Amino acid sequence: MTDSTAQAAVAPTQNLTDSPHYLAEALIKNGIKNMYGVVGIPVTDFARIAQGMGIRFIGMRHEEDAVNAAAAEGFLTGRPAVALTVSAPGFLNGLAALLEATENGYPVIMIGGSSTRHVVDMHEGEYEGLDQMNYAKAFCKESFRIDKIEDIPLAVARAMHIACSGRPGAVYIDFPDDAVAQTMDKDEAAAKLWVANNPAPAMPPAQSSIDDALKLLSEAKNPLMIVGKGAALAQAEDEIRAFVDKTDIPFQPMSMAKGLIPDDDPHCTASCRGLALRTADVVLVVGARLNWMLNFGEGKEWNPDVKFIQIDIDPAEMENSRSIACPVVGDIKSAMTMLNAGLEKTPFKATSAWLGMLQADAQKNDEKFAARVNSGKVPMGHYDALGAIKKVYDKNRDLILTNEGANTLDDCRNIIDIYEPRHRLDCGTWGVMGCAVGYSIGAAVATGKQVLYIGGDSGFGFDGMEVEVACRYHLPITFVVLNNGGIYRGDFENLGDDGDPSPLTLTYDAHYEKMIEAFGGTGYYATTPDEVEQMVGEAVASGKPSFVHVQLADYAGKESGHISNLNPKPVVGPLATSEVTANPYIEGARM
Ligand code: ADP
Ligand code: MG
Repeated sequence: MTDSTAQAAVAPTQNLTDSPHYLAEALIKNGIKNMYGVVGIPVTDFARIAQGMGIRFIGMRHEEDAVNAAAAEGFLTGRPAVALTVSAPGFLNGLAALLEATENGYPVIMIGGSSTRHVVDMHEGEYEGLDQMNYAKAFCKESFRIDKIEDIPLAVARAMHIACSGRPGAVYIDFPDDAVAQTMDKDEAAAKLWVANNPAPAMPPAQSSIDDALKLLSEAKNPLMIVGKGAALAQAEDEIRAFVDKTDIPFQPMSMAKGLIPDDDPHCTASCRGLALRTADVVLVVGARLNWMLNFGEGKEWNPDVKFIQIDIDPAEMENSRSIACPVVGDIKSAMTMLNAGLEKTPFKATSAWLGMLQADAQKNDEKFAARVNSGKVPMGHYDALGAIKKVYDKNRDLILTNEGANTLDDCRNIIDIYEPRHRLDCGTWGVMGCAVGYSIGAAVATGKQVLYIGGDSGFGFDGMEVEVACRYHLPITFVVLNNGGIYRGDFENLGDDGDPSPLTLTYDAHYEKMIEAFGGTGYYATTPDEVEQMVGEAVASGKPSFVHVQLADYAGKESGHISNLNPKPVVGPLATSEVTANPYIEGARM
């Protein structure tokens, strides 16, 4: 194996540069500001060099969290950040989050150090030998390997284009140790460096598709707009706001599109989703997929005669699950600008009868809901705790909220309103756990804003060690863990007789707040709604790494949260009788 450290050390004296310096320079020139990673062979020097040259390096505790942090930065800023891993196991640890970023459409670049190419290729038994470039292919939009230092500008420029254009996503760059060790004449390297030109180009749709869309909308009785996280990625809040102002069209925000227009806007149908979807006859889908979250645009939750207009940058998304009356293929900012302009010629306005019907239903549901979140019950359920946190959030509307869990996710999405664009990051398209602590770190670093993490004890457990990172970098994150002592909840029983805890059971008599105290952060332990409000308020006001353990009843929550319908149930035995609920995205708690 080549000694890259030795070569790097001689480079500056011979008018040479080396791969770590050249790669860092190419990343900086392309606007990369932050790198999240775990160092080791063969990328330790690269991380140190990049830090020395001005990239902020956030040393994480697990590669999955590093990729999630970088992906959060991509979602929030529209520009990729870098996640750095070591070879083989470190690389593999990053893959789940790499695919997650691609599935969600977050731009991110993962760079993985790897072992000596020809030794790996001959299967000689290299240290952490793995053909990483090929493994990565299934987990991202594109996977490259830098074999020659001269290719570094090309690798970075291509990565920028692929990560940012079309539906954004992840790119993997393999950085084997024999490439890490290469050198090149400094002047030649400088002359060959370039910056990716316009990596996220506008892709306006055809005018005819806009005309068709407006025609359909102007003929609608009950038009509805669904706003998804593609619109948040596209940073199209101004154009969408203008469209609502001009047309009075009611809108349904998908989870991570909440706040593009504030949730308390009178056009928002978050509180009357069921009715809105059942009765809308023309639905304008803006950057949302008709996937499981929308029941594929079919079934009893939808008006059987509904016609869809779908705006998406990815033509392959059209008619992915059902027929679309009017596909609009293009970027959302351009499409909404064209729709707004087209209203001059083809005006339409949602009727006050339609809006009034939705608003009356929303008000009725909100009233029912208010009673649930203010029950004052102790031990608390999710509603009690989240109702108390909502009071704090309403006074701190610029907090970026990160959210994971089962019941903690579903109930938080319903209870805590969001008022600013890109202020909610959650389990996303896959509904994964173990993402939101990484997202919190990325959100705090990328925006400089304060972050409020709200997770269940199970979800938090996947990535909880990252609280040390929050403390080490003094990030203004308040972690709130709702502890009911288990996956879904803490009172499940072992069906056998060996005396072990059930497969769903976690430690109920825990003190999660002590995890942050171990690293110098401030911990709180709350058992009542008043304590939750007071402690979360104080923690947020401190602007420091802080942690509020919220103790719920162990019977709070239900299996699989609101998506028990996705959980096949046994037909015989004691579990066969458990209740199955409907899809909450259609018939959830607040609609
Ligand atoms: P949600 O989970 O909020 O329903 P999805 O992730 O399912 O949202 O859908 C987002 C959609 O937005 C994707 O199909 C993606 O291709 C699309 N998209 C992302 N960025 C843009 C953009 N700038 N313009 C148009 N469509 C976009
Ligand atoms: Mg739990």
